[in-house]
Amino acid sequence: MQWTQARRAQKMNPSVIREILKVTEKPGIISFAGGLPSPKTFPISAFQAACDKVLREDGHAALQYAASEGFAPLREQVAAMLPWPVDPAQVLITTGSQQGLDLVAKILVDEGSRVLVETPTYLGALQAFTPAEPDIVSVASDDQGVDLDDLRAKAEGARFFYVLPNFQNPTGRTMSEARRAALSAEATRLGLPIVEDNPYGDLWFDQPPPLPLTARNPEGCIYLGSFSKVLAPGLRLGFMVAPKSLYPKLLQAKQAADLHSPGFNQRMVAEVMKDGFLDRHVPTIRALYKTQRDAMLAALQRHMPEGVQWNTPAGGMFLWARLPEGMNAAQLLPRAVERGVAFVPGWAFYAGQADARTLRLSFVTASVAQINTGIAALADAIREQSLASALPSTVEST
Ligand code: PMP
Repeated sequence: MQWTQARRAQKMNPSVIREILKVTEKPGIISFAGGLPSPKTFPISAFQAACDKVLREDGHAALQYAASEGFAPLREQVAAMLPWPVDPAQVLITTGSQQGLDLVAKILVDEGSRVLVETPTYLGALQAFTPAEPDIVSVASDDQGVDLDDLRAKAEGARFFYVLPNFQNPTGRTMSEARRAALSAEATRLGLPIVEDNPYGDLWFDQPPPLPLTARNPEGCIYLGSFSKVLAPGLRLGFMVAPKSLYPKLLQAKQAADLHSPGFNQRMVAEVMKDGFLDRHVPTIRALYKTQRDAMLAALQRHMPEGVQWNTPAGGMFLWARLPEGMNAAQLLPRAVERGVAFVPGWAFYAGQADARTLRLSFVTASVAQINTGIAALADAIREQSLASALPSTVEST
């Protein structure tokens, strides 16, 4: 039998991160690679109680097919928890925010459509957009967020700008208030729609991040949120808030994709979140992740050789580091794995020209003791690699 694959299938690539995760599944490897929330934060007993209650009181409906828009009480809870006025009719419950990215590509992107992304950006978004065969254009970004001059130069004809203002994956950086205000004004002036992805916004350490872009111009933005980082990723539940003009098309795309997100899970989440559960639960995640971030910063300070740079994320799960000149994070990885530690080389997150010296370190999955051991091992691997890369030129010059 001759199977001929669609062009979009040929454009799909295995996720580099999933490939790396396979290596890290070897026993004894300390992994800073995956974007896995700490399982210590999963509220198992709250789910156990909710599961019993949902099955007892609403079991038949919970196990039946349901509305594509989502479970109405959950849509109301989502609308109420967002910091701008949201009509529950604008909330679409999705199967993780990853599905939101897929739906966005389905209804907004044609072959060759220009889609703007930050430099670097979330790999899973690149994977979701790529089958629609867009022309993905990287917009220069600094530690405050996107470079508005570069955005202006590249915005013409773009279908949207995909942006992660809070504790970005992969860099951990946060867009400043001034940059948000300017971006929002500029996007409105240019008529440039924004797709705002915010799975990490609640995981701040010292102070909440500035207001989302969508709050400043709800008609010009699609907002993606997730329960993965504040409750549990295994639920596969997220949501999108869309302008009313786009909602029907997103709903049709959602129907075609999976009819609806699991009604049972939606009811459990609605039950768990009742009575302000997140207000009590999320601060415990913030406190844990802050301790972990501090442990990683201290270990980096203690162990890293001169020339290695890193940032101080104000929330979220990731820290972004850069190797000294002449080094390459992808080449470092096998050496690091040999020494028992894994990370994701930064090149995977660039839509355009990659900075080969960068790497992403997750500080939330490993324990504090493992963070210290793992960063020490990584520092050794860097020293070894820099000696090895120095060798050929020494040999040439002699
Ligand atoms: N967006 C970003 C920036 C992410 O980091 C992730 C998870 N890695 C997602 C979306 C998808 O999350 P989920 O589908 O679990 O809601």
